[in-house]
Amino acid sequence: MERKVVVVVAVSVAAVACGMAAAAVGWRVRKRREWKKAVRVVREVEEECETSVERLRQVVDAMAVEMHAGLASEGGSKLKMLLTHVHNLPNGSERGTYYALDLEGTYFRVLRVHLNGQQSAILEHEVELQTIPQHLLTSTSKDFFDFIASSLKEFVEKEGDDSELSVARRKELGFTFSFPIKQISVCSGILITWTKGFSIVDMVGKDVPACLQEALVQKGLDLRVAALVNDTVGTLALGHYHDADTVAAIVIGTSTNACYLERTDAIIKCQGLLTTSRSMVVNMEWGNFWSSHLPRTSYDIDLNAESPNPNDQGFEKMISGMYLGDIVRRIILKMSLESDILGHISSKFSMPFILSTPMIAAMHEDDSPNLREVERILKDILEVPDVPLKVRKLMMKVCGIVTRRAARLAAAGIVGILKKIGRDGSGGITGGRRSDMKMRRTVVAIEGGLYSNYTLFREYLHEALHEILGEDIAKHVILKVTEDGSGIGTALLAASHSSNNVDRI
Ligand code: ADP
Ligand code: MG
Repeated sequence: MERKVVVVVAVSVAAVACGMAAAAVGWRVRKRREWKKAVRVVREVEEECETSVERLRQVVDAMAVEMHAGLASEGGSKLKMLLTHVHNLPNGSERGTYYALDLEGTYFRVLRVHLNGQQSAILEHEVELQTIPQHLLTSTSKDFFDFIASSLKEFVEKEGDDSELSVARRKELGFTFSFPIKQISVCSGILITWTKGFSIVDMVGKDVPACLQEALVQKGLDLRVAALVNDTVGTLALGHYHDADTVAAIVIGTSTNACYLERTDAIIKCQGLLTTSRSMVVNMEWGNFWSSHLPRTSYDIDLNAESPNPNDQGFEKMISGMYLGDIVRRIILKMSLESDILGHISSKFSMPFILSTPMIAAMHEDDSPNLREVERILKDILEVPDVPLKVRKLMMKVCGIVTRRAARLAAAGIVGILKKIGRDGSGGITGGRRSDMKMRRTVVAIEGGLYSNYTLFREYLHEALHEILGEDIAKHVILKVTEDGSGIGTALLAASHSSNNVDRI
C-alpha cells in the first residue's frame, strides 16, 4: 500500500515537472516568436528608411530641380523660393548700434548690438525677452504693435551707449518675422496668413513693418524699421558677417528651413524688378520640399494624415525636431501591437507627441552599460516598467534609424543647394561631375537645437555630406554653427541695409 502511494506521488511529481518544463519551453518559444515579430517591425522600418548614397544623390538632384522650378514661376514648385530683397549681406565693416526685434511664438526678444567695423568683434549685445499677453494674439493690429512699440521704447531708452557713433546716426531696427509674408522690398512685407496661434485678423493683407513703424512714431520713438526678415536669413547674415564665403544658411530646430544667395539673373520670376544687384537672398521654405525619391514609410503617411497641415511641409515632417520623436512613438506603438515585448499596450503609446525629439536623443545617446536612460524614459514617459535590456537596445536602434534618415536627408538638401549654385564640384544642374573643376571654399551657416544639441544627428549629417560629395570636394565645404541668427543676425541686416551706409555684398 505504502509503495503504491510513493509510486503515485513520484509519478505525479514527474508529471508536474514535465508539465512545468513543457510550459517553460512553450513560454520561451512564444517569447522568441514575439521577439521576432518586434524585430521584423524594426527591420522593415530600417529597409524603408534606407538612404544609400545613390538615393541621396537622387534627392540632391530633385532639390536642385525644384529650386529651379520655384525660381522660374510663382507656384512652379512646392518650394516657394521667396524673394527676400536682401542684396546686402553684412561683411564685418558695419559700425554703430543697431536693434533687432525677434517675434518668435508667444514671446518676442529685443536686442541691441554694438559694431565697431571689425569683422570678428560684435562688441556686445543685450537681449530682453518678453512674453506676449495671450489676449493680444487675437486682438487688433493696433493693440498688438502698441504693446511691442512700448516695450521697444523702454528698451531703447535704457540705452547704455553714448558713443558719438550712435548719437550721430539714426537708430535702426531689423525685424525677424517668421510668418508667411510677401515681400516687395527688404523693409516691407504683406502678411499672407497667421500661424502658431496668432489670429490678429485685421493684419492679414497689411504691410507688417509699416504697422510697426506707425506704432513707433506714435510712441515718439525715432527708430526706423530697416529690414524685415525670416530667421534663416538672419542666420545667413550672421554667418556672412564673420565669413564672406558663406553662401547659404540652414536652420534645423523645431522646424527647418534654408536660404541662400542666388544670382539675380537666375531668378526668372523676378525679371522686370528693377535691381542693379547681382545677387539676392532667396528664402527657400525648404520644409515644404517634396520628391518621390524621399524614403517614406507608413508612419510618415499616418503622421502626415493626422497633422493639422496634411500634404504640407513633407520634408520638414521627416527631418525636424518637431516630428522625429513622434515617428519613433508610432514605430513603438506598432511594435507593441504586433508583439508583446513591451507587455501591455500603454495608453501613452497613442498620445501624439508624448515622446519628444530630445527624449529620443537621450535614448539614442545613452552610454550607460545597462541603458538606464532608455529604461527611465520608457518607464516615466511611456509608462512601461521593467523592459528587458535586449528590448531597450531595440528601442535605441529605432531612435537611430529615424534620426539617421533625417540627418542624411538634410545633408542631401544642403548638397542640392550647393549643386544649384555650382558649388558641389559638378558642372551644376545640367553638367556631369568634373574632377578638374576648381572648387571654391564654401561655407554654410547652420543653427537650430536639433543640429546643435544632438551629437549623433550632427555626425550622421556630416558623414552623409562627405559620402555624397566625395572627400575631395567635401573638404572645401564647411558647415559653421552660428548662434542667434534670428537676433544678432537680424540686427546685422539692419546695419547692412541702414540708410546710414552703402556697403555692398
Ligand atoms: P526653435 O526651432 O523652436 O526656434 P531651437 O532652434 O532652439 O528653437 O530648436 C529647438 C528644437 O531643437 C526642439 O524643439 C527640439 O526639437 C530640438 N532639440 C533641442 N534640444 C535637443 C536635444 N538635446 N536633442 C535633440 N533635439 C533637440
Ligand atoms: Mg528659432
